[in-house]
Amino acid sequence: MIYADVVIIGAGAAGLTAAQYLARAALQVLVIEERAPGGQAALIEVLENFPGNIASNDRAARSGSELMDDMYRQAQHFGAQFLIDTVQTVQRGVDGLWQILRAVGEPVSTQAVIVATGTKHKTLNIAGEKELTGRGVSYCASCDGPFFKGKKIVVVGGGDSACTEAQYLSGLTDTVLLVHRRGELRAQKGIAERVIHNPHIALRFNTVLVEIRGENRVSTVLLETDGKQYEEHAEAVFVFIGAVPSHSFLPALCCDEEGYIVTDQTMASSLPGLFAAGDVRANPFRQVIVAAGEGAVAAHSAVLWCQNQR
Ligand code: NAP
Repeated sequence: MIYADVVIIGAGAAGLTAAQYLARAALQVLVIEERAPGGQAALIEVLENFPGNIASNDRAARSGSELMDDMYRQAQHFGAQFLIDTVQTVQRGVDGLWQILRAVGEPVSTQAVIVATGTKHKTLNIAGEKELTGRGVSYCASCDGPFFKGKKIVVVGGGDSACTEAQYLSGLTDTVLLVHRRGELRAQKGIAERVIHNPHIALRFNTVLVEIRGENRVSTVLLETDGKQYEEHAEAVFVFIGAVPSHSFLPALCCDEEGYIVTDQTMASSLPGLFAAGDVRANPFRQVIVAAGEGAVAAHSAVLWCQNQR
């Protein structure tokens, strides 16, 4: 059994910030991440609303992956340890410590846990979506957009993600079709305005994507507007219809109606010694800067928790 004073699950903006603060407070901190560090922020092409991240004459605003890489190296620099593994369960041991069981490595015991696992993207669950994922259907514009330079791209959704990513994709092709089920965009006004005035993005409101068609790759989409179905040519479909929180490994705890973890303002969950920060937490404004701020607060609370346990 490995021991760490605090275990952080998830290495996105919240987890990396918490790791840095805890390591600087001289606690033994272990971060367990399923994939590569960086989280969803690392997929954002230009993180233009992160404070201080502004283009200047000699350099562009940094990408999400550059910023997250810096956060990762900063946390390591101060002494945080990182493991790549999948957390299977988190449970309270008889000794009062939390025990974390992993898919591959040995269990970890710890005084405090910070859950910073973010969200997983939602899927449309329509015909052709699963079959053509990786063959034109994608959930990541910066990962897959460059494969579709100059091609006809359909984006589904009307929130910040769909609009931000449609804007990015419109730099790769002149023909982005944004399909949204309602009559107006849900995105923040500034983000929505840019999409509305972008000559390379066509908006199709009150429209649903019914089916994605193609033999080995996407070739057409079946759309429905005002009860009428019609087929249109498309070579890629990017789906940005929101996300669901990712914490199925936790014991029962207080969540909101959408499953996001409810905490108090110190980021303490309903389970003593277990904190949550970032997109996995019930919070109406999911932004990278908010996740980082919550990570710092959760770290401070975990430090106080550990001091009180001694
Ligand atoms: P979101 O805000 O929940 O928006 C999801 C969009 O997808 C909505 O327009 C919704 O339609 C639509 N939708 C949901 N289910 C659908 C379905 N089955 N079929 C068709 N359309 C469907 O999700 P998000 O855009 O991923 O954003 C998530 C969070 O991250 C938000 O808090 C957002 O502010 C934040 N974010 C911020 C930035 C930024 O500031 N730059 C960038 C990305 C994300 P309705 O409108 O009809 O519900």
